[in-house]
Amino acid sequence: MAHAAQVQRMSRLMIKTLRDDPADAETASHKLLVRAGYVRRTSAGIWTWLPLGKKVLENVSRVVREEMDAIGGQEVLLPALLPREPYETSGRWEEYGDLLFRLKDRKGADYLLGPTHEEIFTLTVKDQCTSYKDLPVILYQIQTKYRDEARPRSGVLRGREFQMKDSYSFDTTDEGLAESYALHREAYTKIFERLGLDYRIVSAVSGAMGGSASEEFLAPAAAGEDTFVDCPACDYAANTEAVTVKVAAADGSAHGPVEELDTPDTPTIETLAAHLGVPASATLKNLLVKVDGEIVAVGVPGDREVDLGKLGEHLAPATVELVTADDFTDRPDLVRGYVGPQGLAGKSFRYLADPRIAPGTSWITGANKPGTHARNVVCGRDFEVDEYFDVVVVEPGDPCPNCGAGLRIDRAIEIGHIFQLGRKYADAFGLDVLGQNGKPARVTMGSYGIGVSRAVAALAEQTHDESGLCWPREVAPADVHVVAAGKAKQTELALEIGERLGAAGLRVLVDDRAGVSPGVKFTDAELIGVPTIVVAGRRAAEGVVEVKDRRTGEREELTVEEAVARLG
Ligand code: ATP
Ligand code: MG
Ligand code: MG
Ligand code: MG
Repeated sequence: MAHAAQVQRMSRLMIKTLRDDPADAETASHKLLVRAGYVRRTSAGIWTWLPLGKKVLENVSRVVREEMDAIGGQEVLLPALLPREPYETSGRWEEYGDLLFRLKDRKGADYLLGPTHEEIFTLTVKDQCTSYKDLPVILYQIQTKYRDEARPRSGVLRGREFQMKDSYSFDTTDEGLAESYALHREAYTKIFERLGLDYRIVSAVSGAMGGSASEEFLAPAAAGEDTFVDCPACDYAANTEAVTVKVAAADGSAHGPVEELDTPDTPTIETLAAHLGVPASATLKNLLVKVDGEIVAVGVPGDREVDLGKLGEHLAPATVELVTADDFTDRPDLVRGYVGPQGLAGKSFRYLADPRIAPGTSWITGANKPGTHARNVVCGRDFEVDEYFDVVVVEPGDPCPNCGAGLRIDRAIEIGHIFQLGRKYADAFGLDVLGQNGKPARVTMGSYGIGVSRAVAALAEQTHDESGLCWPREVAPADVHVVAAGKAKQTELALEIGERLGAAGLRVLVDDRAGVSPGVKFTDAELIGVPTIVVAGRRAAEGVVEVKDRRTGEREELTVEEAVARLG
């Protein structure tokens, strides 16, 4: 479906462009979307979409909608204001922690603003579908979501209120689920290609959603908050949240196999230090010390150190085990298969359960990942008292787990996420349909998200240049930006060419503002980033205009007839 033709005069458009970056803006998309008049900050992580911004948002939604319809998705619209009970049933009223916006009605009943809608979709299908003949079903919505993000930064890239396309598949068999998942994967590929986004599909962890198979669509960009590894030699790519490539000492020391030292004699600090080949006053980051099987000290790169000098109190007659390791994975008795939340600059965040922490103690992990790991971590609930979390450090050039080639590490923006949920929610809500054999069959589900508003920012990140935004045509707020660079003659010609391009089916923005200098109009046109700029200027009297490609900067002088024929 094509865009609807439209001629928008800038003299009647509510737009105020800014010369300076907003003070709090760190990312290009944040700066440019504000400066070019697409969005306006209303509160932390809460944004108003101004006329041009709303057009871009709608264009993204339209592409998403068309591709979801093409795989048989049925569009619905669920409320954002939701009762507590279903989220109590699924366990997420608690699990989501501070991420959830909770509120009460006048009678004191608890409500929340939906962060994602697995629960309500499950209940909807439970109500509407009774037989295997009613399935499979794919339902989707493009809707406002609410998450009280700890650090709502980067403009619309991470909002506390944001637009998401979320869809949910319902099947009776595992094969059916695999097919619904494959359909989504294909649809997402088409969507991101049409939007003009550079993206990678990477393995992901399922996090709070639960379930097994899960992949993310990542748009590589320096402003991204995700770190992913990908292999130049094979198709391996994964979010570092999902990577267990290497468990290593970050300080580069003590490489080599796990070393375990049993000291039958009462050891002293000196004998330990001599054994390790370090001074007795050394602090070590990659050492685990057990005395009589009890862990007494742990050093973890980037987290904590073992101070040898302070070990004295433990060194009564005992069996001391020293584990100096750059590969704790060889010690399944010490390390369980947990991968730390994403971290900074290519290194996974790492932390460790301190053996002395009492069960029930809770704390917040250092990473802002409420949807995945960043809930309250409760000792005894989320891990055992003496359970050790992997120390995951992935460096560029580390071997690919598939083929051994050196991995690359990059930053990216998570623009989409697809999950095979399985029967987690169907179990929680008793979602059965009448099976082919006449008995109840438990339904299996998938859930699939696209950050619609985030995609706008991701596009801005990937396509801008030093002069401003630079939209791919599919999402641009107009096809052509006509600038009247001069007086009455130029304005007349600009409006004429605007009308003719509009009649030819194009969306046109005509800068017919009086009292605004050509220089300001040119700067604004570059900043706004419509793909083609037409200037009615010097040679307007002859009916000659300049046609400029915003991206390449290529320009050409054409007559109005030629320009309309070329662009229309
Ligand atoms: P992130 O890791 O960035 O916090 P998420 O994994 O928590 O995202 P999902 O629960 O997978 O997000 O939601 C589906 C999609 O919604 C994401 O892939 C992302 O594109 C988008 N999204 C999630 N949180 C936000 C947000 N705060 N602002 C804008 N878009 C978001
Ligand atoms: Mg999140
Ligand atoms: Mg994520
Ligand atoms: Mg996700």
